[in-house]
Amino acid sequence: QVKLEVKEKNQNINVAVRCRPINSIEKKQGSCSILKCDKAKREVTVKERAGIHPYTKTYNFDHVFPPDCLQIDVYKAVVMPVVEEVLMGYNCTIFAYGQTGTGKTFTMEGDRSPGANMTWEDDPLSGIIPRTLHQIFEDLQKQQDIEFSVRVSFLELYNEELFDLLGSSIDPLRLRIYEDNVKKGSVIISGLEEVVVRNKDEVFEILQRGTAKRQTAATLMNAVSSRSHSVFSVTIHIKENTVEGEELLKTGKLYLVDLAGSENIGRSGAVDKRAREAGNINQSLLTLGRVITALVEHAPHIPYRESKLTRLLQDSLGGRTKTSIIATISPALCNLEETLSTLDYAFRAK
Ligand code: ADP
Ligand code: MG
Repeated sequence: QVKLEVKEKNQNINVAVRCRPINSIEKKQGSCSILKCDKAKREVTVKERAGIHPYTKTYNFDHVFPPDCLQIDVYKAVVMPVVEEVLMGYNCTIFAYGQTGTGKTFTMEGDRSPGANMTWEDDPLSGIIPRTLHQIFEDLQKQQDIEFSVRVSFLELYNEELFDLLGSSIDPLRLRIYEDNVKKGSVIISGLEEVVVRNKDEVFEILQRGTAKRQTAATLMNAVSSRSHSVFSVTIHIKENTVEGEELLKTGKLYLVDLAGSENIGRSGAVDKRAREAGNINQSLLTLGRVITALVEHAPHIPYRESKLTRLLQDSLGGRTKTSIIATISPALCNLEETLSTLDYAFRAK
């Protein structure tokens, strides 16, 4: 029996694990659930009894969401406190990490089956992105004596190339990253369109636009969607008039990142040999792992510059920023190897 526990809490990195329900394909294969998720104890236990060497392994995280948990549970526990930080003028990032098919997009965007009611509001299946924008507007519109603006961008990263999912051009535009010479440690993405959102009703239309464009981009690039990362950003500018008659300016930024499928990253955190031979190396996903490890270990050098993803998230990873990782897993025995790989990766981020 192995039991892993969080030793020293890193205040700036929060790690959650979400297990989706077993699906019909897994059931048809005769695969059973081998996981026990204890929400209250924040533990995931892997029970392997079918093999020659039965074993039990328990992992401890900041949050554990069992298969029956709701989108709102994930939102309230993980995202709400982060949005509050952003509204106070901090930069934050939330990642969905995991094997393809385990619920990263379901968690980030939600389940948008065709024919569902065409507003995001009150839809129990809405994910983090629409809920975040609702919270932001609700909070800002409540406050008095402030002026604010909310801008969003949505981009996709495939094979170390960036594509704008909200830009007005029909072809996905090739974007370029430059270092910002004024704001050190920040980057400018030239050509990326930032869209002003005036109220929460506009959010749905913007997300639809991004989804439609994603299909165009994938076709043009001959892209495999499981290998692309999508990055949704929200930037909030707030001008507050204090009682002393002064103007207070605050800028907060939130990145919501739906990462490429983690299936080519082995348990050691290195690229799987087969994947390497097939040329499936995902530079950004690998570098992200190294950046997070370096941040956790307080290493003197953080290798942000080694991938496009970490370069563009640089001002919202590490330092005073808060980072949350939601690792998504399948409960089925047939995915055991990938599940352990994801749990190990997530655990190392603590
Ligand atoms: P990923 O983005 O990680 O590849 P998806 O989000 O596309 O995975 O999820 C794969 C399938 O599983 C989708 O049909 C999705 O609706 C379903 N699914 C994922 N997570 C859940 C969940 N927590 N509850 C119900 N269905 C889920
Ligand atoms: Mg997905």
